[in-house]
Parts: sequence; C-alpha cells; structure tokens
Amino acid sequence: MALKTIDALQLAGKRVFIRVDFNVPLDEQGKVTDDARIRAALPTITYAIAQKAKVILASHLGRPKGKSDDKARFTLEPAAVRLSELLGQDVILADDCAGDGVVKLARELREGQVLLLENLRFHPEEEANDEGFAKELAALCDVWVNDAFGTAHRAHASTAGMARFVKEKAAGFLVKKEVEYLGKALGNPARPFVALVGGAKVSDKIKVLENLLARADTVCIGGAMAYTFLAAQEVPVGKSLVEKDKLELARQIMDKARARKVDLLLPVDHVCGDAPKETARRVVVADRAIPADLMGLDIGPRTLDAYRQRILSAGTVFWNGPMGLFEQKPWAEGTSGVARAMAQAKGVTVVGGGDSAAAVEQAGLVDQMTHVSTGGGASLEFIEGRELPGVKACED
Ligand code: ADP
Ligand code: MG
Repeated sequence: MALKTIDALQLAGKRVFIRVDFNVPLDEQGKVTDDARIRAALPTITYAIAQKAKVILASHLGRPKGKSDDKARFTLEPAAVRLSELLGQDVILADDCAGDGVVKLARELREGQVLLLENLRFHPEEEANDEGFAKELAALCDVWVNDAFGTAHRAHASTAGMARFVKEKAAGFLVKKEVEYLGKALGNPARPFVALVGGAKVSDKIKVLENLLARADTVCIGGAMAYTFLAAQEVPVGKSLVEKDKLELARQIMDKARARKVDLLLPVDHVCGDAPKETARRVVVADRAIPADLMGLDIGPRTLDAYRQRILSAGTVFWNGPMGLFEQKPWAEGTSGVARAMAQAKGVTVVGGGDSAAAVEQAGLVDQMTHVSTGGGASLEFIEGRELPGVKACED
C-alpha cells in the first residue's frame, strides 16, 4: 500500500505534531556529537515550515525510564540548539511534553514557528502507550506526522497511540524513504539480489535469514554466526563463538537454501586471534577449518574477494551484520572491505542494522550507498517481514 506522506496534506495555519527521532549521542558537556538523526528529519521539518504550519516536534532521548529527575542528562536542549543552527531560526523548547504550560505554548504558536517538546520518556505513559497520554498529545495538534523511523517498531503513545485521536495523519519524508528503499530492496529487487548477513548470533537473525532466503539469489554469511554454520557442517572452528543449540537450525537454513536454489556462501578462510582483543595475535587462516587454539574474528581475504565479486555483479545488495569484530582494528578489514565493495557497486545498495550502519559511517561511505537505514532495530524488524506499528499508524 502506498504510504500517505506529509505533502498530501494541507498544513497552512494548522498545528502539525511531528514525531521525530532526536535520540542523538551527546558528549560530557551535553553537546551533540553526531547530528545525523536531526539532519535526517530536516526535509520534513523544513517542508512543514515552508507550508506555514505551526510546527510541534517531539522525541525521546536516551532511557530516562519515565522520570525527569535526571533532567540535565536527558533534556532535549542540545538537540534544540543544534536544530536551531541547522534551520537558521529559533526553536522554542518546552520544559515538558504535556501539561498546561505546553498546551499554552502550542496555542500561541504562529505559522512557521517551531516548538520542541521536552523528552517524551520523562513520562512512563509514553512507552506504556497510555490512552490518556496519547489523547493529551493529540489535543495539542490538528495533524500527526510520524518521521521517527528509529522508533517505528515500537507502539508508544507518540509513535502510534495518538494517531487514533487526530483528525489527519501521515508519514514524514524519512519514514517514507526508509519504507520505500527497504521495501523495494526486499519486495521488488533488481536481480541478481545478493544479501550479506553477519553479526554475532544466528539466533538474532533467524527471521532475517528466512525472509532473505525467500527473496535473494545469493546469501553471503559472515560474522560470528558463520562459525555456527561451519560447525553444523562439522568443519572444525577452534575457539570461535558457536551457538551449540542452533546447529540444527543452521542445517535447516542450509537445506532451505538448497531447496530454493539460493547460493548460500560461507567463509572459506578466516582472520583469527587467540582472544577477541585488540592486542591478540592476528593469524590469517587460509582454510575453512580453524586450528583448536584460535577463534575466527573476521572473514579472510579470499572470502572477502568472493563476496566482493558477488556484490559488484549484483542488481541489488542488501547488507545486515558486520563480517567480524570490526570495532577492533585487527578484525575490521572484512567489514570495511564489504562496505567499500558496496560503495563501488553499480547496483542498488541498502544497509540495515545499527552496527552495520555504524561500520559504513566509520568507513566514511554513507553517501556512496543507495540507502543506509537510520533505524537499527526498526530496519531489522522490517527485514524480518514484520509490520511496524509506527508505519501502520500513518495509514488510514
Ligand atoms: P547489526 O546491529 O548491524 O544488526 P549485529 O548487532 O547483529 O549487527 O552484530 C554486530 C556485532 O557482532 C558487532 O558488535 C560485532 O563485533 C559482532 N561480531 C561480528 N563478527 C564477530 C566475530 N567473529 N566474533 C565476535 N563478534 C563478532
Ligand atoms: Mg546490533
């Protein structure tokens, strides 16, 4: 179903509540260290301003657990400061997200002005999706717009609950872009469709793998989960992380791939260490089998080459899950190599998952991908084939 977006609505003179994801990282002085999430919401915000809406923004930040006693740590003030710089106009920061003071501020808003409500999660009713709280938020506005893809997999008062109590609703441009790219990559991919799946655990990615097996032509496995697959084929994997209770599942996944004629590629060589540490001895093992005293911490150079060839000749590449313990330099090459290959690829390239997106960012290649999802958990649930409550709530 086509998602209705903000540009389908008349906004002039209306109070438009936009749920954004301003859950940004802060330094010790309370300065925003990465404003990517704020910038990702700008197209929707500037559109609403240009349409002469009275703009009300709301977000969560961190995990204040329903309390405002640590307000200095969880306030959205740093985000308000950064947003104001980016917009080149004042942003009014409310000292709460509900209550008489906020009602008054919302009422007094003029066309084109921007009001940012204080952290939604200062109230336990937000995450509880409390109906009374949802009604209170809805009473602030005429139009509800969800542009917080990062929390779209959560049914909270501001991300889903309040949609029932507003006159008009729509998705913002970021949510639309996410749903479009992730949806197109999975639903109607240019072929061959090559998926790369890595990360720590098979158990985290069962549904992701199953959904991709039904759609992809090739699935390349990397990360720690590769050792569970190798162990399931009785390949020795030394001290590598193996989920012993998932061996049967790994076998079933491999059987399914065969039955569906999906090429399921596993590492043929490895970068190993004697411990998962930056200072560990680094050994390239030029074989599928890993010696007993070592653990696999990254895909090896021949594996990277094989995966790179698939990436370069793909119509669509979808990647979720780092190829190794990429946070530590000795084991980062497989992950950065995949990111570079995707950056060079001619096909559509889409990255989902929090750590994978961080790896692409670390490599400085975000701009060279077709789409890097801003939603970690939300993008995974989307790829699992689940309906996201924050997206569903935008539909009539
Ligand atoms: P995403 O957030 O992109 O979905 P995951 O959360 O599934 O990715 O996995 C990322 C984590 O997996 C990273 O912290 C990475 O260090 C870890 N990882 C990947 N390969 C290995 C490995 N061989 N050994 C230990 N940890 C690994
Ligand atoms: Mg992760």
